Amino acid sequence: MAKQVSSPDPGDRWYSFIFKSPELARRWIPIIESTKQQVTPDIYEQSVNKLICMDYDQVFMLDPEPNVIPVGTENAEGNQLTLEDIKKMMCQMSDGSLSFVAKCKCGKLTGNYNKDMICPDCHTKCVGAISEDVNFGAWMEIPREMPPLLHPVAYRVLRAWMGKMSRRSEYLLDAFLDPHTDLPEPYAGVCGQGMIYLSKWDNFMSVINMVMQQHRGKKSAADRVIQEFIDTYRWQMFTRHIPILNQSLHILTQSGTMTYDDDSLKHIFQTWLELNSAIMTIRHRSDVKTEWISEKTWSVYKCWMNYIDSIIEPKLTGKTGFIRKNMLGGRMNASGRGVIVPITRLHFADDIELPWKMVVGFYKLEIMNILENRFGWGVNKACDQFNLAVVRYIPEIDACLNILKDECPFVGFPVLMGRNPTLRHGAIQLWFCRRHKTDPKDNTVGMSPEALSCPNADFD
Ligand SMILES: [Zn+2]
Repeated sequence: MAKQVSSPDPGDRWYSFIFKSPELARRWIPIIESTKQQVTPDIYEQSVNKLICMDYDQVFMLDPEPNVIPVGTENAEGNQLTLEDIKKMMCQMSDGSLSFVAKCKCGKLTGNYNKDMICPDCHTKCVGAISEDVNFGAWMEIPREMPPLLHPVAYRVLRAWMGKMSRRSEYLLDAFLDPHTDLPEPYAGVCGQGMIYLSKWDNFMSVINMVMQQHRGKKSAADRVIQEFIDTYRWQMFTRHIPILNQSLHILTQSGTMTYDDDSLKHIFQTWLELNSAIMTIRHRSDVKTEWISEKTWSVYKCWMNYIDSIIEPKLTGKTGFIRKNMLGGRMNASGRGVIVPITRLHFADDIELPWKMVVGFYKLEIMNILENRFGWGVNKACDQFNLAVVRYIPEIDACLNILKDECPFVGFPVLMGRNPTLRHGAIQLWFCRRHKTDPKDNTVGMSPEALSCPNADFD
């Protein structure tokens, strides 16, 4: 939930911790606020606190060359398709390679060096899987013999909203979808079960309304969000297309007799096996009952949900997931790392003492600018002295750093300091370098002993 930031007051106590004087605050706050305005209305406001149900059916229709994994069909010998056939098929979808390297259609232009160039022979653009939008790698279609499936986003939202059944560990929504679970008291005998029943809009809405009645206004805020969610995504609630992530996000490669496949792929193969066997049975037997289809739909759906769970936790939000591994825990431009030591002199809680090498490296261009334009040094002398400063204390360069610090509107050089693993709130915070270290041999970062608890840091 994003808090609305009220209009800034330069006399605000909060700003006095960041800016050197109220005059500087008055001059800089509008500039900072205007950069915020450029970001907020479109990207930020739209994405915060909004549950987005992507329309898979539409994405499938708009996919120019969808790779559809066949369901309920036979191979060239007239036998039922096996898992090996599907594996081979999924490997072929990316020519067995991972297409991290940009390529044109005919292969004349190969390599990221040629990216975005038009091939003179085949007249196609040289692109790679990562250089363009990462599209879904493959699709599975639910044939008409089976009901459409509840959208995975809707499933997770409604499951959390309905909660668990009283005195039982199962989710209420699972009981509605699984024809073998007994529904709890107010719903038993009143509502039907299974995807076939629920995918009819009137039945779906009657179940939702009944759950809302059971809340008796106790969860009115959540009920309102759910109502809005269902109204917004009325046509996306049930889908006939199961998207499978791009090959670059879960890898399946074959070389010789060796196959490497990603962990989450086994769930998608399971989904295919369940779906395929159900469809084959429905097509080849005449005595298939509706209950049986309902039951099979639930087992297909469970496999699909396992696939989604195997992506969300281990690949996105987990400790080794993309967000922490590449964004919060990754190394950025103008960054450095060091061992932390306590500051022993009188200091502020947000003080950070950066090592000499680090500040000199961070402010290379600014230091060169001052040496050349204010001290009147030539380029060669400035370069020599700067290179020397990496290993030796140079008084002129220290003077440059102090000039920069004086002219900076903030109370010191602003520094974002993060301590890995970035799993806790407050692991990355804004600190101010009011004083830097002047001993080139000292590679430690000074930090207040009072500020250890938030990043869960210690001195050793
Ligand atoms: Zn070409």
